Amino acid sequence: MGKTYIIGFPRIGEKRELKFALEDFWSGKISFDELENTAKALKKRHWEYQKKAGIDFISSNDFSFYDNMLDTTFMLGAIPERFRDLNGIEQYFAMARGSRDAVAMEMTKWFNTNYHYIVPELNENMDFKLDATKIISEYNEAKEIGVKTKINIIGLLTYLGLSKCDNGNCYDFIDKLLPLYEELLGAISTLDDEVVVQFDEPILVRGVNDILLSNLKKVYDRLALVSTKIKIAVVTYFEHINDSIATLCQTPIWAIGLDFVHGKENLKSLDIVAKSGKTLIAGIVNGRNIWKNDIDASLDTLNTIAKTVKKENILVSTSCSLLHSPYTLAYEQKMDDELKSWMSYGIEKLDEVSLIAKIFFAGFDSLNGDELSKYNETKDILLRKSTSTKINNRDVEQRLKELKKFERDDSFEDRISVQREVLGYGDLATTTIGSFPQTSELRATRLKFKKGEISEDIYNDYIKAYIDECIKIQEDIGIDVLVHGEPERNDMVEFFAERLNGYGFSSNGWVQSYGSRCVKPPFIYGDISRKGTLGYEWIVYAQSKTDKLVKGMLTGPVTMINWSFVREDIPRSLIATQIALVLSDEIDDLQKNGIKIVQVDEAAFKEGYPLREQNIPEYEKWAVESFKLSVSSARKETQIHTHMCYSEFNDIIKTIEAMDADVISIETARSGNELLKIFKEVGYKQEVGPGIYDIHSPRVPSVEEMKDQILALLEVLPKKQLWINPDCGLKTRKYEEVIPSLKNMVQAVKEVRGY
Ligand code: GLN
Ligand code: ZN
Repeated sequence: MGKTYIIGFPRIGEKRELKFALEDFWSGKISFDELENTAKALKKRHWEYQKKAGIDFISSNDFSFYDNMLDTTFMLGAIPERFRDLNGIEQYFAMARGSRDAVAMEMTKWFNTNYHYIVPELNENMDFKLDATKIISEYNEAKEIGVKTKINIIGLLTYLGLSKCDNGNCYDFIDKLLPLYEELLGAISTLDDEVVVQFDEPILVRGVNDILLSNLKKVYDRLALVSTKIKIAVVTYFEHINDSIATLCQTPIWAIGLDFVHGKENLKSLDIVAKSGKTLIAGIVNGRNIWKNDIDASLDTLNTIAKTVKKENILVSTSCSLLHSPYTLAYEQKMDDELKSWMSYGIEKLDEVSLIAKIFFAGFDSLNGDELSKYNETKDILLRKSTSTKINNRDVEQRLKELKKFERDDSFEDRISVQREVLGYGDLATTTIGSFPQTSELRATRLKFKKGEISEDIYNDYIKAYIDECIKIQEDIGIDVLVHGEPERNDMVEFFAERLNGYGFSSNGWVQSYGSRCVKPPFIYGDISRKGTLGYEWIVYAQSKTDKLVKGMLTGPVTMINWSFVREDIPRSLIATQIALVLSDEIDDLQKNGIKIVQVDEAAFKEGYPLREQNIPEYEKWAVESFKLSVSSARKETQIHTHMCYSEFNDIIKTIEAMDADVISIETARSGNELLKIFKEVGYKQEVGPGIYDIHSPRVPSVEEMKDQILALLEVLPKKQLWINPDCGLKTRKYEEVIPSLKNMVQAVKEVRGY
């Protein structure tokens, strides 16, 4: 009987082979056969890596050409009407990416990760029908090379819980889809004498109600009955599931997967698991961070678990699928050796799971020389790490201790009257969110500079020329508050991270974000301080080119943290405080150099919300405090803006208000004035810039259209409180779209003002 279990393995390839093959296929450079061959080779390699590491439970069907949720949609025949005249792989990719005649299905973030799944659209008229081909063939593929896999499938409750449906309640579809899941298990039961099927049910970590619990019971009671040849494991991750463990344990499933890294609370429910006699898949090695596992701490946790659950019923596992961590440190040749020694990517995590399991089950005596030295070395490294000067910065510590000013001095009412006078903008002031198109020439020039092919002077001149042009364009259009366009930034997090001590970068730490797209988040390993400046000089330069106001642009602490891998030795709240301090220094530099408006973007504010309601107050507290600390240096007359890439503020409006920004721009363009109503309902005081056109599409909205949009906004909030802007940054758009759109926007405002 095996002892080690991996929830899932990344699929994109250690050199992003799948990404490149997909993109070649989409652009017609390779055939589908060639794409499939790449996929086969990758799967084979991934199974072999896991086998070599001594993993007993290795997955199949964790592979996907795009996304597992989409695979499930495909498997169930839940094909939206607009794709029905297509079939096969063409239909599959059209659902993900859109086709000439049909817009793509929506995609959104997978729980609190940066992975995006394709949101199923269910309706009554769908002709659900099982297609198990992918699952069966992937199982057989592995079997052919001697790997007997467990089969990963998105659990029905999670699938439905993440779907969109006409009537709003997707659980109504259980009776239609459960028979298909049963049919699927029937097909799987013919594959072998015994097959393990893993159902992923992370939906449970968000908390449950009676309806969900009774559905949970019903689904797994029925699925467990399909065949005695099938052993069902229900796995959860990212949080605890204390409120559903008992129900799950009452079903006749074989195993239950719990995350003990992000869901420590799970430890409180172990007696229920023990009593049920079920196998416990213990998520011990963090599947979504990049740090070496503290083996002793993991052993402690396992030993604690073993006080309640019989050792022979425990499997050692990753906390979640390794999909959320990069592949291997093997290609990190440029990284500082000390930093690298602290890290562990996917493949290294496989070894950790094996080593921990070996020690836990068979004791230190069972280790061979290599294993023992690996254990000792890890221990050594972690000990040295805890006192490393790379991590600990006395000055930062001292400053935190002496910190006395946590927020701005004046109330919003006092600030805004001064600002209106000093800044002199009128009602319905126009502005943009910060970035202007990142042209291919701009990207190419930046790349040349990074590679050392052009000098810093030449690069800087290029950026200046971009800013000159950007300012001129905005002046010509007649926008009120200008931006510099962010040409110096590759990315709104990475740019700042590069200017901060305590931040590190990898060369191959890619993680899949959606489809073929991967991100390479920077990582925070130590105390944060500014190396030099955060680049305020570019804003000051832009301001020198115009008599109009130029708005400075920074990225807020929550967003910096959310889009980075972060250290685990101090709480996120403290990291946020450190980032806030450097931002407040930068804001001070900006205002000392004549900048009167600064925007602190918190694009990721909402996605940072905890999965569990009980953790929300704590998050909101530090998220708001760190924002207020970031802008605490702003003088009364310096106007602080923030921007959030959301439109739904109903649940968090009070928190947004508590951030106390003078102006917030938001993403309401696609929802008219509906979502703005909450601002009125709660008597929101500060100024608001609801996006009046959708920048996610190349479409140029007409003057009329934007006028209507503005008039609709005016039905909700007074013109004094409103700013007019697009709904997000323009960096992904082309100038041909941006210029006419902004012209129309300004014209629309003019016409409305004329009323
Ligand atoms: N200032 C950033 C930009 O305009 C904000 C982007 C974002 O919120 N995602 O690009
Ligand atoms: Zn945005």
